[in-house]
Amino acid sequence: MPLCADCENIETGRRGAPGHGALKEMSHSKQNWGTGVVITTKFSCQVSGAKWEYENDKHDKGAGWSPG
Ligand SMILES: [Zn+2]
Repeated sequence: MPLCADCENIETGRRGAPGHGALKEMSHSKQNWGTGVVITTKFSCQVSGAKWEYENDKHDKGAGWSPG
């Protein structure tokens, strides 16, 4: 899938890394994995159409952006 220049710069796998301004929030879901609630938010880039998801898990510093 082609990525726009801003998508190319998204840092994956790091909690708190920023996305970019053209990412539109599509949906989010909450799961409880036993260690706490994890919120996964799905985004679609308005420039390139790339799909991303951001996993917000305060117990996992390696959770963050991943191609969705
Ligand atoms: Zn983009």
